[in-house]
Amino acid sequence: MRDEDIAVMLRRAGHKVTPQRLMIIEALRRASGHVSAGQIAEEVRQHYPTVDLSTVYRTLDVLKRMRVATAIDVGTGDAMYEWAPPEPHHHLVCTSCDKIANLDHRYLEDLGARLKSDLGFNATLDHFAIFGVCQECTMDGCDDGNEA
Ligand SMILES: [Zn+2]
Ligand SMILES: [Zn+2]
Repeated sequence: MRDEDIAVMLRRAGHKVTPQRLMIIEALRRASGHVSAGQIAEEVRQHYPTVDLSTVYRTLDVLKRMRVATAIDVGTGDAMYEWAPPEPHHHLVCTSCDKIANLDHRYLEDLGARLKSDLGFNATLDHFAIFGVCQECTMDGCDDGNEA
C-alpha cells in the first residue's frame, strides 16, 4: 500500500489528511516491529516540533480502526503499534526474560474458527500477545530444581 492510497482511504473515511498525520503514518511504516506512540511522536517532532502526543494517539487510533495498523500490549503498560502486515502475526512474551518471539497466525486460526462455530463470535485475532515462560527460561528453572 502506498502513502497516497492511505491518504485516499483517510479522506474517504472522513478524516483530515494533514502533513503531520502523513508523517505519523510514515514513521509507523518505517519502524520494523513495535513502536510506542511516544517513539513515533519523537520521530515526527524532528520535522514538526509542535505535534503533540494526543494527535499521534488519535491518528494511530484511526489507523487501527481502518485495520492498517494494529496495537498490542506486551506487558509494558504502554500500547505498542505496528503496521499491519498482509498476514496477521502474534507474539509469545516471556515474563521471565522479557523476550518477545513471533507466533504464526495458524495457531490462532483454529481458535477463531471454533469461536465462530461454537459461539457465533467473530473474534478479531489480528495481533495477540500470549504471556508465559520461554523454553530457555523453563530449562533454566529445571536445572535449578535438579541441583537443589
Ligand atoms: Zn507484532
Ligand atoms: Zn525467557
